[in-house]
Amino acid sequence: MRIGMHRWLLLAVLAAGLLGSISAAAAEPLNVVATFSILQDFVKQVGGGEVAVQALVPLGADPHTWEPSPREAALLADADLVVANGGGFDDWLLRLVRNAAKPGVPVLLVAEELGPAEGGGSHHGHDHGADPHLWLSVPNAISYVETIAAFLAEVSPERAAVFAERSSAYIDELRALDAKLTQELGQIPPEQRVIITYHNAFSYFAERYGFAVVEFLVRNPDAEPNPRDLGRLVGLLQRLEKPAVFSEPQLTSGARYLEALARDAGAEVYVLFSDSLTAEVPTYVQMMEYNLRVLMEALR
Ligand SMILES: [Zn+2]
Repeated sequence: MRIGMHRWLLLAVLAAGLLGSISAAAAEPLNVVATFSILQDFVKQVGGGEVAVQALVPLGADPHTWEPSPREAALLADADLVVANGGGFDDWLLRLVRNAAKPGVPVLLVAEELGPAEGGGSHHGHDHGADPHLWLSVPNAISYVETIAAFLAEVSPERAAVFAERSSAYIDELRALDAKLTQELGQIPPEQRVIITYHNAFSYFAERYGFAVVEFLVRNPDAEPNPRDLGRLVGLLQRLEKPAVFSEPQLTSGARYLEALARDAGAEVYVLFSDSLTAEVPTYVQMMEYNLRVLMEALR
């Protein structure tokens, strides 16, 4: 796909003074800050030893509702460049950049380079609504990696060949992952292809891997579910042969609502990863393979 580069190119031009200082110290790794662990992994895969990348949101915490502390301000103050999702997912970053980052530091909002992430995009029969979790579809993750590689190469052209080589090897791995997900999830009976989660995260995943129904209790984790939706989902679950709901590791109060729904509907509770890696599931590829195993166990 064609990647729109205009926005961060402009930022890069504004940061011309900074770029000079990066070139002068090419032996030092690029200091990259990503908002959350999944983007941190993508940057690590592309940059290898040429980058030192930190995530602002710690492993296992919720990027939607994150309240930045002095630790994050300090990490950002040292950043040569910043990678975020955008699309309403990690909006708190922009305030933090204004307050704590070096002036003119290049900021990449990856999802916004990919297409209509924000607001009401509906295609192929799935309404993505305000779902900013584009990375849960592996072809989108490949676009993230291409966009990040182009961004890193623009900021540090002397390392462009390394970024190109590493991203191409990683994209091969992601293509194999996509094929595996398509093949294995294709074995789930059509009437069991239902994903019910706490928040609106899996619309891109569902569209890519052929899930007919993707439902959630709240659009965004800062909201509370309403009783009517709970009632509707109980009805939906009771019609399934293997009713299942999917919690997420970063949920705090949300998990409670999902457990109540499962009790009312006689459903099992499983865990899917969406917004954060953990020490046990430390990479994007491992996260998607974990989700694959869970879905096969829960629904097949
Ligand atoms: Zn989320």
